[in-house]
Amino acid sequence: METESSPRSLNFIEEIIEEDLRTGKNGDTVLTRFPPEPNGYLHIGHAKSICLNFGIAKRYAGKCNLRFDDTNPEKEDVEYVDSIKEDVEWLGFQWNAQPLYASDYFGRLYDWAVMLIKKGKAYVCDMSADEIAATRGTPTQPGVESPGRKRSVEENLDLFERMKRGEFPDGSRVLRARVDMASPNMHMRDPVMYRIKRAEHHRTGSDWCIYPMYDYAHGQSDYMEGITHSICTLEFEVHRPLYDWFLDQIIEPGKIRPRQIEFARLNLTYTVMSKRMLLRLVKEGFVKGWDDPRMPTIAGMRRRGYTPESLRAFAATIGVAKRDTVVDMALLEHCVRDDLNKKARRVMGVVNPLKVIIENYPEDKSEEFEVKNNPEDESMGTRRVPFSRTLYIERDDFMENPVKGFFRLSPGKEVRLRAAYLVTCTGVIKDEKGGVAELRCTCDPDSRGGDAPDGRRVKGTLHWVAAPTAVESQIRLYDRLFTKEDPTVVDEGQDFTANLNPDSMKIVTGFVEPSVEEYGPGAIFQFERLGYFCMDPESANGKPVFNRTVSLKDSWTKAAPGAK
Ligand code: ATP
Ligand code: MG
Repeated sequence: METESSPRSLNFIEEIIEEDLRTGKNGDTVLTRFPPEPNGYLHIGHAKSICLNFGIAKRYAGKCNLRFDDTNPEKEDVEYVDSIKEDVEWLGFQWNAQPLYASDYFGRLYDWAVMLIKKGKAYVCDMSADEIAATRGTPTQPGVESPGRKRSVEENLDLFERMKRGEFPDGSRVLRARVDMASPNMHMRDPVMYRIKRAEHHRTGSDWCIYPMYDYAHGQSDYMEGITHSICTLEFEVHRPLYDWFLDQIIEPGKIRPRQIEFARLNLTYTVMSKRMLLRLVKEGFVKGWDDPRMPTIAGMRRRGYTPESLRAFAATIGVAKRDTVVDMALLEHCVRDDLNKKARRVMGVVNPLKVIIENYPEDKSEEFEVKNNPEDESMGTRRVPFSRTLYIERDDFMENPVKGFFRLSPGKEVRLRAAYLVTCTGVIKDEKGGVAELRCTCDPDSRGGDAPDGRRVKGTLHWVAAPTAVESQIRLYDRLFTKEDPTVVDEGQDFTANLNPDSMKIVTGFVEPSVEEYGPGAIFQFERLGYFCMDPESANGKPVFNRTVSLKDSWTKAAPGAK
């Protein structure tokens, strides 16, 4: 697997940057930016963009700005601003100086718009959004010119000023760039630069009732900040001529001219990545919030137990492409396992408990076994795990009538209780319905530590938890959020929520060894033989809540032999 530091060939963006450094296009400056719109929480796709932009800055001794693209006041909120800052830092990146806001540039953007009007490059148009759309033409037919195009500079200056002062109702007028209504690129057909919208902005309050459009604000913001490489996703490729056109109008000699470069956005199987859809999942209660561990958001993944290192390794592994791809969720889970395997403390926990009484083990006896915290890393030390006459084992580890090849516990069979004793099942206690309620076993007192005294072969090794000291825990077992690889594929009349997996979360009560009580929310453990589990912030009053981060079974390694 690719790691952040392993040598690899340059991706196409790095090739462009190295060429620019060689030719001295921007001196030795490399300045990128990550420009989220604060209208939702960041998701794993954003994490890719963050790793790319901040990663490039790091690689070329440059900087990366965090700039909030806050030009759409109705959908934006400080809650989102705060979460974005938290997520970027958690991923391990530090932005250049202070966070920046496109809204801080509203004044300069306005002045430049006035300048464009004076140059005859922008005009006020009285058409509604629908009329503008209807007169834009088609890719093969030129659009119809707006009557506003014929306005004098003076009239345009006056109308634009009055738009700003709030003399006209919302949506009644716009400022448009005067580019080319016959351009084969629809984005060049006199695009809208400003619209009237009386909306409270989370930073500028009611200072403005006109707001710049993304296309106008973005490139000019890049220019103001001296961004050298403005990296964005592929859908902006067709906007690039407009990005360049706006820059042409304002660029001054000696200033850095930002270059827009597009890369393919990340798509993942079994989830959705559009903020509009994620917002619906939150607002309509399909999940418990933006940080629900089933969400593909950074906050959700953090709560689930994914680490920044695993997300960065994932971003490095998938690399950057020029064509859209869908990445297998199993690869992301593989990266998470790979990292947690090295870091997570092993503990024993039982998620589907079956009570076992060791009949020849004295009731008043208690002893502890010393167990390694992580066999991959001796420096993580050992811990003491208490044993007792009454234990819990995993229900799935017992079969009354074992099928062929079942080497775990069944009547008359001997197994190893990990690091403790060899035990043999001597009895099965049934409940009224005939189900298995409890087991009776005997242990071989000479097998202390789990080794057979005579070297006899015992195939199965089970995890267990001693009942008297067990920590009762709520355990949340997660599965994919959607049942389809591409949840947006739906039958007529349905939407993507029809593909939600009704079993994406199962809550069970389990028992975990007492060492977990020394840790708090955010601690990640490997429950032996089961998977990785992260302690949830909702843990309270000695009753931990654990989120299953990922199971141990790696379907990626199986799907792609040689992947690791
Ligand atoms: P959405 O379409 O989900 O609303 P967006 O692109 O509008 O996302 P922004 O806040 O504008 O969200 O995104 C900030 C940056 O993250 C942009 O540069 C955008 O290109 C990038 N980005 C967004 N989604 C992805 C993705 N799936 N893969 C890679 N980069 C992405
Ligand atoms: Mg966007």
